[in-house]
Amino acid sequence: MQTFIFFFGPPGSGKGTQAEMFSEKTKIPILSTGKLLREIQNEPSEFGKKIKKKLEKGEYVSDYIIEKLIEKALENDKYKKGAIFDGYPRNKAQLNSMRKRLKKILGEQVLAILINVCDKEILHRLKLRRVCKCSSTYHLDYNPPKIKGICDDCKHRLFIRSDDKPKIIKERILFFKHRISHIEEYWKRRGKLIIINGEQGISDIHKEIMEKAKEIIKN
Ligand code: AMP
Repeated sequence: MQTFIFFFGPPGSGKGTQAEMFSEKTKIPILSTGKLLREIQNEPSEFGKKIKKKLEKGEYVSDYIIEKLIEKALENDKYKKGAIFDGYPRNKAQLNSMRKRLKKILGEQVLAILINVCDKEILHRLKLRRVCKCSSTYHLDYNPPKIKGICDDCKHRLFIRSDDKPKIIKERILFFKHRISHIEEYWKRRGKLIIINGEQGISDIHKEIMEKAKEIIKN
């Protein structure tokens, strides 16, 4: 049986971190559109440059590109048993494509996890977020690296994501709010939505997710 999990939440809600922890526990692989796009933006091509511009402004990448990315990624055998989507679908058009693509499997195990965090906390979190090119993420207060400025996992230098500037963060929050209510409604109607208080410690959020997920996902 295939299992599909959809993590969503405002920028800085910790959905990426929680998706990783969920993946570790359940062994379901992650499919993160944000991560795929950050890899592409480093490519020395016109396409790479185009994506980079979008990410720097905190704007959404076109639905066409997102669908192509998802389609290609899902061809990988590692997603045979399912996937944890981090940051997809993000608007009505993507939701509709997802429904068409996954029509067959939506009768299977599906769960949507919304991580809620207020705007003030998001700003605080993202201003102090540091990331590594290996995709490990840190927070200078809540989850600092062992050695200042250096990734615990691969020892590369940490950096600030280009879209983690205060002005861009505010735009990303607005963007998210405008587009997400439709998606939230959809999952709620299907009885597949769990809403998590994202303003707790990382391990408490994980605990709440695992407890609530158990009610919907059978082992
Ligand atoms: P995330 O890592 O999920 O915060 O995504 C980082 C950035 O990638 C977002 O601010 C968007 O610019 C872009 N992005 C990620 N996922 C999507 C998506 N499903 N649709 C459009 N743009 C996306």
